[in-house]
Amino acid sequence: MPRDKIILACSECKNRNYFTTKNKRLHPERVEWKKYCPRCNKHMLHMETKYVAGDVVHVQQPSLPVRVVTFWNDVVTEMRKVTWPEHPQVIQLSIGVIGLSLFIGGVIWFLDLILQGVLVRGIPSLFGA
Ligand SMILES: [Zn+2]
Repeated sequence: MPRDKIILACSECKNRNYFTTKNKRLHPERVEWKKYCPRCNKHMLHMETKYVAGDVVHVQQPSLPVRVVTFWNDVVTEMRKVTWPEHPQVIQLSIGVIGLSLFIGGVIWFLDLILQGVLVRGIPSLFGA
């Protein structure tokens, strides 16, 4: 699969921040990704620029606190997209989980009763205990 080397440059400050590849067949167009720009210190639209052999690219990893904050903001953004279940659905699912737990508890109790009868009382009584 031919992957083309590309550079993603910040659309604002033109800083060439990311050195990556793309599949030219899947993305024949000029790709644009929203990525963190360390110079602008925020997420910016990054445009594809061609990589020319010998190009000097300053790929700078943002500092740890910046990455933690970026990660946290991304988590908040993603959590906003979550579709939470409606109240009746929560009740219905909770009843289902509790019911299943009680059922499995009952099965284990029943098996325990049988095994106790066989192993603790039944087998020793064969030997006159
Ligand atoms: Zn920038």
